[in-house]
Amino acid sequence: MASYKYSVYNSAKQGNRGGGGGRGRSGGGNKRRGEYIDPARFVQAAKPIEETQYEAKHRFADFEVASIIHDNLTAKGYEFPSAIQDQTIPMALEGHDMIGIANTGTGKTAAFGIPIAHALITRQNAKALIVAPTRELAQQIEDEMRSIGKGGGFTGALLIGGTGMGSQLRDLRNKPRIVIGTPGRIKDHMERGTLKLDQFNMVVLDEVDRMLDMGFVNDVSSILDEMNPIRQSFFFSATMDPRVQGLIRTFSKDPQTVSVKSGDSSQNVNQDIVRASGTSEKMAKLHDILLDEKVGKVIVFDETQRSVERLSNELIARGFSADAIHGGKSQGQRQRALDSFKASRTKILVATDVAARGIDVADISHVINFSQPQSYQDYVHRIGRAGRAGKIGHALTFVG
Ligand code: AMP
Repeated sequence: MASYKYSVYNSAKQGNRGGGGGRGRSGGGNKRRGEYIDPARFVQAAKPIEETQYEAKHRFADFEVASIIHDNLTAKGYEFPSAIQDQTIPMALEGHDMIGIANTGTGKTAAFGIPIAHALITRQNAKALIVAPTRELAQQIEDEMRSIGKGGGFTGALLIGGTGMGSQLRDLRNKPRIVIGTPGRIKDHMERGTLKLDQFNMVVLDEVDRMLDMGFVNDVSSILDEMNPIRQSFFFSATMDPRVQGLIRTFSKDPQTVSVKSGDSSQNVNQDIVRASGTSEKMAKLHDILLDEKVGKVIVFDETQRSVERLSNELIARGFSADAIHGGKSQGQRQRALDSFKASRTKILVATDVAARGIDVADISHVINFSQPQSYQDYVHRIGRAGRAGKIGHALTFVG
């Protein structure tokens, strides 16, 4: 029987959402006020979750999609569908609206990417829009769509902030049949009249919960309002709270739901606190931690763009291999920092919460919270970056 070995993790269920919403959450120099979190909640031994052995009902060969897609999947080394792919693809190919409860690491991108590529290849009137909360996630989706649809004869445009308009305008003039982007930049193009969505009849909202967390609800609603009313919609979200349900109810027709049963990723992470008060003691302790040979690839979280930049510079001055990623950097700088971290050329990535969202890097050994997260939910999102792919991760949180 076909089996696909896949460990699935989930982020925290609903909890208090501190820090409000709004696009400026990772923003400038303002100190934000979050919920009080008892430091005891940052201390916990890892209870490793068994890897889920998912028995796929289908092979990729069973899916009736354009043969070029089969070739591309084989070239990508995809042998068996993951749970979310196995269950989503057949229903999506029948034309159903889909709700996928799944997060990064489950293979959700190909779950919507394969049916969309098939539609674009086989139906000349098909046009798809994919909306993601962050530039990095949009870029990752674009990479995946390119490799799934390679040679399929459709063009695309990636509309994200932090990059110049020039190449986006050129791509839009070429009448792309797939547009991938973040809500703000998509909205920008709609307002300039450079993107008309009335012919777009397939839509994916990826990481809906995060888009709502980031204050994109109005942008997302106005984007959907402009689309062809006769369309197929895909909604993917790690959590299904009432806000997410409300949005889906407004914008979908008889959706089918696929939920990837998963544990809480924080179970796979050894969590502890580091007591330090004052900047110099914190720096000294961080320095010692980073010298520990057990510490491999690390994400260090800090609060604001400015503090992230300062901390990264300080680590570089101390001889560490570090880089910073935050919303104040250009898209090119962010992508270079991320690529270098993925390729292990940089060992330490200092990040704000928002900039780190959607980052899929498998081999992070430690997450260090140099400043405390705004909410327990943010904490779980942060530490879920370690302990991926069945490995035990470590999380250290500085407390005063
Ligand atoms: P995603 O959750 O879509 O971000 O995918 C997580 C990672 O799993 C990505 O690196 C994908 O390329 C990879 N992946 C997705 N589906 C499969 C599959 N069926 N077989 C092997 N790798 C996969």
